[in-house]
Amino acid sequence: MKLATFIAGGAPQLGAIDGEVIVALRDIAPDMISLIANWPELEPKVRETLLAKDTAHALGAVRLAAPIARPSKIMCMGLNYLDHIEESGIEAPADQTWFVKTANTVNGPFDPIPLPIASDKLDYEVELVAVIGKRGKHIARENASRHVFGYAIGNDVSVRDWQLRTSQFVVGKSFDGHAPWGPWITTSDEVSDPHALDIRCVVNGELRQHSNTKHLLFNVWDMIAHLSQAMTLEPGDIIFTGTPGGVGWTMNPPRTLKPGDIVRCEIDGLGAIEGAITSER
Ligand code: ZN
Repeated sequence: MKLATFIAGGAPQLGAIDGEVIVALRDIAPDMISLIANWPELEPKVRETLLAKDTAHALGAVRLAAPIARPSKIMCMGLNYLDHIEESGIEAPADQTWFVKTANTVNGPFDPIPLPIASDKLDYEVELVAVIGKRGKHIARENASRHVFGYAIGNDVSVRDWQLRTSQFVVGKSFDGHAPWGPWITTSDEVSDPHALDIRCVVNGELRQHSNTKHLLFNVWDMIAHLSQAMTLEPGDIIFTGTPGGVGWTMNPPRTLKPGDIVRCEIDGLGAIEGAITSER
């Protein structure tokens, strides 16, 4: 199933997508995190509503919002595709490299992406996003798939000079609006293998990043097993799983994003997100 948060006038609401139509999930859950947390009980109701199509909108007539506006964690993996590690001029890490994006970064899948006042060194990073469904700690690798609710596409928008000025990435990765994601959550039952998905980033029609999630150094199961040794993973936590090669910053000369640039991120089976770079001034 494809589950979205959308706006059709008024407050954001939950919807399920059927082809070119989005069906409102009225009164089923107040928000996406509650829907995910109570999915085993709520799924039959959602399926009924989807069949009945009481309140349906054309997908093109609504505004899709980020599926979860305030995830309790946005965990991000750095250095997880060999070609990106090579272009960054460093050695493949033996350990998983983690940082966070703060909640203010969340942005709708088709909303403008701010070019900050503080820097013009703006860059894109297409990534597979995993959404946690079931709470857990010390999750064994072989059980990790049971803890994933679904998948989406994210753009780990990065302010490179702020990111690389010191060894700590967090502020350079956490400017307002720098985590557009969506366009919806595709539930894991519809993703037969999350580690065999073509992944692309296109800027102004030019293919910049193109890889496949089979090239992840540490896969989603490795990530869940590793992180959950430290922290309880909860419904609605999201994981940005790292970006492949082809980012603008490592090109010679670097090709940073400018106002008016259109950044489109695509993953097979999960749809696409697309945002225009818009000056914060
Ligand atoms: Zn990233």
